[in-house]
Amino acid sequence: MTDLEKRQDRSPVPSAFEYASAPESRDIVRLEERYSLFVGGEFVEPRSGEFQPTVNPATEEPLAEVAFAGEEDVGVAVQAAREAFENGWSAIRPAERAKYLFRIARILQERSREFAVLESLDGGKPIRESRDVDLPLAAAHFFYYAGWADKLEYAFVNRIPRPLGVAAQVIPWNFPMLMLAWKVAPALAAGNTVVLKPAHTTPLTALLFCDVLRQAEVPPGVVNIVTGDGRAGAALVRHPDVDKVAFTGSTEVGKDIQRAVAGTGKKLTLELGGKAANIIFDDAPLDQAVEGIINGIYFNQGQVCCAGSRLLVQESIYEPVVAKLKRRMATLRVGDPLDKNTDIGAINSREQLDKITELVAAGEEEGAEIFQPPCRLPERGWFFPPTVFTNVAQSYRIAQEEIFGPVLSVLTFRTPAEAVEKANNTAYGLSAGVWTDKGSRILWMAERLRAGVVWANTYNRFDPASPFGGYKESGFGREGGRHGLEPYLRFER
Ligand code: NDP
Repeated sequence: MTDLEKRQDRSPVPSAFEYASAPESRDIVRLEERYSLFVGGEFVEPRSGEFQPTVNPATEEPLAEVAFAGEEDVGVAVQAAREAFENGWSAIRPAERAKYLFRIARILQERSREFAVLESLDGGKPIRESRDVDLPLAAAHFFYYAGWADKLEYAFVNRIPRPLGVAAQVIPWNFPMLMLAWKVAPALAAGNTVVLKPAHTTPLTALLFCDVLRQAEVPPGVVNIVTGDGRAGAALVRHPDVDKVAFTGSTEVGKDIQRAVAGTGKKLTLELGGKAANIIFDDAPLDQAVEGIINGIYFNQGQVCCAGSRLLVQESIYEPVVAKLKRRMATLRVGDPLDKNTDIGAINSREQLDKITELVAAGEEEGAEIFQPPCRLPERGWFFPPTVFTNVAQSYRIAQEEIFGPVLSVLTFRTPAEAVEKANNTAYGLSAGVWTDKGSRILWMAERLRAGVVWANTYNRFDPASPFGGYKESGFGREGGRHGLEPYLRFER
């Protein structure tokens, strides 16, 4: 028997396994009909007078009306943050600042079920993920940065760190609460105050977070939440009284922000898109690798900047890997995000679904071979089945552009050097995965891959102590770890 035959998987195709639905109750969430802006520690009516509904992507039902801030509202929020910075927050003892962060972390843990249900309702992600990943990690970020708040001089030895002032933070819709934590926790630990704009399709957990701020007795104005669309984001990053801009989102908007901020002296970090390679060598444990491929691309419906959206498989194991992958895909359950059995929830918005549909059509037109396991999609809401493309050329749009959906493109390679070349053949550089039995090969690959994060024999694993960020069109600056404090500090020495 040849090596290849030995590795071919002959297990039977699993028959459809019927689960009884196990929906998480939404009663734990109490929604207001209408939400205004959170400025200076209280909810204030928007001067713009504008409200828009936020919609449950799994049912297309409106959940609540949410204020859309105008330029004047943004100005009021920045002023509140400035006053809070000048009038105490920057001067309180660092150990006191830590106390607030610890409180926030503990309250998030206590209320995590409420937050997880709300996150899934507003954003469409499976409750299994919001409950087991987003919320625990969000709390962990506050715990982690609480620990640094009174140890900054140890984080930066022989330097004198000082806060910058007001941080303007614009976050996307794919990890609303987690991105809030990634941004707010280091900013506060470093002694800054914050104005944060959530995405207009997922504002509700940021608004519930205002309640946590009050419960934790965080002084008014230290964190301000201005909801709205891209106009509010654009006004916020351009406001002259902002000292630091942190953005996560599309490369296109990131470039626009970089142009707007250039020459103003504001510090900037950009965490943008990606087109990560998940690289499988022939000595990898294949069943584990297939789980890693599934997690890499179907986690959060593939709406993940670091998603392993390009699978690079060593040629000698191409057939068994693709066969195992297709079989595993057939077991994924697509449907109600609040059902605890669901693996793939709803796509966040109609626009995102249209973008995925358009790119998948382009893949078929360009000549790639599509596979989608048979699955019943809910009649209402925005859903897309798990999809894999084989026969993909590197020049195809599906191999070059960020799809931000549950769509995987498979390419092959023969040698480690070819794997590196193909993996780096992208405008992005956020993350990569390497699956192999050899530690030396992992290190060899990691040194050569132009990616901010390289996972070895795992994928999409996050830890607050570990820095995250990109190269090239994936942005610059790091979030997480000690590195994540630096963008929020200036140094007197
Ligand atoms: P955007 O970059 O438009 O959105 C990210 C955030 O920026 C949102 O809060 C958005 O507000 C805000 N925003 C929009 N325009 C501006 C502006 N001119 N100035 C300042 N802030 C602005 O991403 P999209 O939601 O349009 O998604 C498009 C694509 O971007 C996705 O398909 C995906 O490929 C990529 N993306 C990458 C993410 C990542 O994590 N790296 C996250 C999200 C998207 P609002 O949403 O309210 O309009």
